Amino acid sequence: MPITVEHVTHFLTAAAEIIHAHRDELTALDAAIGDADHGANLDRGFAAVLSRLPTVADKDIGTVLKTTGMTIVSTVGGASGPLYGTAFVRAGMALADRHEMSDEDIVLALEAALAGIVARGKAQRGEKTMVDALAPAIEALQSALAEGKSLGRALLAAASAAEAGAKATIPMLAMKGRASYLGERSIGHQDPGATSTAYLLRALAMTCSRNEEEA
Ligand code: ADP
Ligand code: MG
Repeated sequence: MPITVEHVTHFLTAAAEIIHAHRDELTALDAAIGDADHGANLDRGFAAVLSRLPTVADKDIGTVLKTTGMTIVSTVGGASGPLYGTAFVRAGMALADRHEMSDEDIVLALEAALAGIVARGKAQRGEKTMVDALAPAIEALQSALAEGKSLGRALLAAASAAEAGAKATIPMLAMKGRASYLGERSIGHQDPGATSTAYLLRALAMTCSRNEEEA
């Protein structure tokens, strides 16, 4: 079943909802190893994304995702604004002029998003960032699809892998961003950006699996 712009707008709506619901938790995580703004930053950004959705609802998937990325860059701020913004812009570039996408296109879009985050932030796995949630999620997605799972089920596996990846940041030493200023004191806390990435993947998985059930 092809994925359309309508599905993408459903995902962005679900993303805004899940970030809003976990806003205080994300801010509390950032209070421990950062400056206590991650939940508020993302909530503001995704609210702005939602308010712009009607202006792009009749456009192609690439345009919707690029607009999302530019909106995030201009409203989120901090480290995560440019990183998530680049992720969405790169995903949009991977899907330029497309009105439909396949399962494989979702993998390509997520790979482009990860490549954008890495190009911008230079983080490797194990450095206690959003990369530690997104990279294992893409691997889980690819292996679930290779096993013949439906896209919805494969994305649910990816979201679970992202959540495990976020949890696995707890014992890590932060090597990037504000948390790295804490040195050893960053150990023992879950990374806020890895946690928000896991929520975004959960929103994507819930949107796709619901579509399959309704189809
Ligand atoms: P700031 O640290 O500027 O206040 P946020 O609080 O919004 O920004 O986001 C912090 C999150 O950004 C971190 O938890 C981490 O996951 C992510 N992050 C910071 N620097 C990098 C980087 N270089 N590469 C990838 N992710 C990063
Ligand atoms: Mg912060």
